[in-house]
Amino acid sequence: MKIQFLGTCAGIPSKMRNVSSLIIQMLHYENECWMIDCGEATQHQLLHSSMTLSKINKIFITHLHGDHIYGLPGLISSRSFQGATGELKLFGPKGIKDFIHTSLSISGTYIRYPLEVIEIDEGVLFSNHAFSFEAIKLEHGLTSFGFRIQEKDTPGSLNVEKLKSLGVTPGPIFKQIKEGKQITLKDGTVINGADFVGPLKKGKVLAIAGDTRQCNNVKRLAKNADIFIHEATFLDKDKHLAYEHYHSTAKEVALLAKKSNVKLLFLNHISSRYSENTRDLLQESEGVFSKTFIPNDLQTYIIKQNNEVTLK
Ligand SMILES: [Zn+2]
Ligand SMILES: [Zn+2]
Repeated sequence: MKIQFLGTCAGIPSKMRNVSSLIIQMLHYENECWMIDCGEATQHQLLHSSMTLSKINKIFITHLHGDHIYGLPGLISSRSFQGATGELKLFGPKGIKDFIHTSLSISGTYIRYPLEVIEIDEGVLFSNHAFSFEAIKLEHGLTSFGFRIQEKDTPGSLNVEKLKSLGVTPGPIFKQIKEGKQITLKDGTVINGADFVGPLKKGKVLAIAGDTRQCNNVKRLAKNADIFIHEATFLDKDKHLAYEHYHSTAKEVALLAKKSNVKLLFLNHISSRYSENTRDLLQESEGVFSKTFIPNDLQTYIIKQNNEVTLK
């Protein structure tokens, strides 16, 4: 899985950080490429990366505050100018249809690819053989969702050496063995497929919170997540401001990650008051949860099956 942070600032951009947006690439799954939120000038940020607009096939909007959606009309329109023909699905809270329809129609923008805008509520937005994608309502000034992406478990690896020792060579029979079926070999030996397959590979959980203050649902969002991406708009000394403005502090999120058995924590949506020096935020979070990352704009993280992180 590849995660690229395009914008990590809260509310208004700073010189170092643009407003919210990130890209998730599900490398194993037909190159699914998703954008989460699309603040103003997100398309400019993309110009500094190898990602092209035509590759993005789904956009998910956590909530309708301007710092999460003002980049949409321009990006949708440029995707067409650049000749993209593949469908784009845009998921967002109620009101997103009006926003897109109004901005495209009054600016006379014609889109040459199929664009479907879907207003969402809590629940599973879609699922397929590989994962399910669920929206969970959080607590913010406007309706705000977190997204929980649960990869499905996959069968363990086949013990090829053990099979070879019984004279079983690769072929269609391997598929049946992997499915755990009972099979009679040519010499009459009956083997049980399950004896040759390693333990189930647990599917990963990726959880991404929209803007929120701490609430019960955010605990549900975070539970056992391998990768948890959450806003940390404030330091804990400004806790009262975080609560008043429906945001969270780095410490609150680190405590949540710890209690929820999270493996890796990424903090974003950093207030511009700290955006050029995130050392205090990082220290505050690391004091509670050591596996904390505060990405800069345009940083890409590649996360392997064993949760090993490489920064590109
Ligand atoms: Zn925001
Ligand atoms: Zn907001």
